[in-house]
Amino acid sequence: MTTTKEIAGRPIGEWLERLPLLRKVRSAEEVLWTSPALAPLAGRVISPELGLADIEDAGRRLARFAPYLARVFPDTAPGGGIIESPLRPLDRMAGVLGAGGPGKAGRILLKLDSHLPVSGSVKARGGVYEVLKTAEDFALAAGLITPDSDYAKFAGDEMRAFLSGHGLAVGSTGNLGLSIGITGAMMGFRVRVHMSGDARQWKKDLLRAKGAVVVEHAGDYGLAVAAGRRESEGDPKSHFVDDENSRTLFLGYAAAALRLRDQLEKMNVRVGPRNPLFVYLPCGVGGAPGGLTFGLRTVFGDDAHCFLAEPTRSPCMLLGLMTGLHSAVSVSDFGLDNKTEADGLAVARPSGFVGRTLARDIAGVLTVSDERLKNLLTQLARLENIRLEPSALAGFPGPRLLAEDPAGKAYLEKHGLTESWPDATHVLWATGGGMVPHDVWLGFLDPADRAEFQ
Ligand SMILES: *Cc1c(COP(=O)(O)O)cnc(C)c1O
Repeated sequence: MTTTKEIAGRPIGEWLERLPLLRKVRSAEEVLWTSPALAPLAGRVISPELGLADIEDAGRRLARFAPYLARVFPDTAPGGGIIESPLRPLDRMAGVLGAGGPGKAGRILLKLDSHLPVSGSVKARGGVYEVLKTAEDFALAAGLITPDSDYAKFAGDEMRAFLSGHGLAVGSTGNLGLSIGITGAMMGFRVRVHMSGDARQWKKDLLRAKGAVVVEHAGDYGLAVAAGRRESEGDPKSHFVDDENSRTLFLGYAAAALRLRDQLEKMNVRVGPRNPLFVYLPCGVGGAPGGLTFGLRTVFGDDAHCFLAEPTRSPCMLLGLMTGLHSAVSVSDFGLDNKTEADGLAVARPSGFVGRTLARDIAGVLTVSDERLKNLLTQLARLENIRLEPSALAGFPGPRLLAEDPAGKAYLEKHGLTESWPDATHVLWATGGGMVPHDVWLGFLDPADRAEFQ
């Protein structure tokens, strides 16, 4: 191939020669990549900066705020103000995904973050957590609370008036904006949500109805984030939620691992060397799947095999990890257009923080076409009566790929998992869809299938 284009100072041809899988990635084919950098946890920490104590601290902070959340978000009240989602076995869909029967994948569970209270997506973990922590930090600094206070106080007029003197800003393709906007406005913050051009109208309408200011940008996710960051800079009374770098968001997601451990125990699902846990995580910039991977590896160690899932035309984390360039590479460097129906995943450049922190802990990345997302979405609705948004289905091809793709088989072989494969548990992380209006959801389907779900 003759081309003069260079990526990080090397001609593209050199990259393709060194990493042959890039040819398929570049032509937007579906791939499974397993990471050569995945390393056992023995004798090392995942991050010198963050660990179990920080995850537990996040869990305690969420517990402090539970009385507040139960009061202002009635859908959290049945769970005592704890924002958590069900873990549900897939029965009829499991066969479609390659489970059941001899030599087949073990049990397949669906983690329904699509139906989390407050904002109906995985962002109700990281996003809500960051808003709460920001409010707490401001209130502690002003001497309005101590960590022993009853945090239901945040629902009162005094606290809301105090927080209305503070700003929150975020850049988003939609779901993070919803989570920050809904929670931030509820707490009294002046919230400005910078939305990328591909953000859905219903999300903007909903945010405005909740009292957030929506700033619309023609450009993509990266541009919306840059605009939010710029605007917030230099204002000590405004906090910018940095999707690409925030340790707070990351820990809000990571706290899910402790909850998942409890849910698996309650379901009598064992995790150990003979019962590996495979988790499939839809990935945009990497914050949510990164925080979840960090939590899962911290809690379950080497028994947790975390695979990220991206659209074929937006495989930013895959490119960042494969090339080792992290945030210095964009999907456009490889000629991809970052166009996908999977809103939350339309990100061209991955988080460098996530890629660098987790290079030894992410097991691999799979890519999936929009066409397959649509098929999976329709089948899940038909067989299990569960309605997700396209992004949330990105991880679904995972179990079958591990069993059937040469790269998957090699992964199982290399890590001594071939024998335990039928005893594995697979968790598909369904990251969003619960708040999508029905008519918008119907638009995800092929026109011929719509009548069935009217
Ligand atoms: C945000 C989002 C993701 C991915 O999270 P990132 O932090 O961007 O990697 C996946 N699915 C849905 C539905 C999302 O909203």
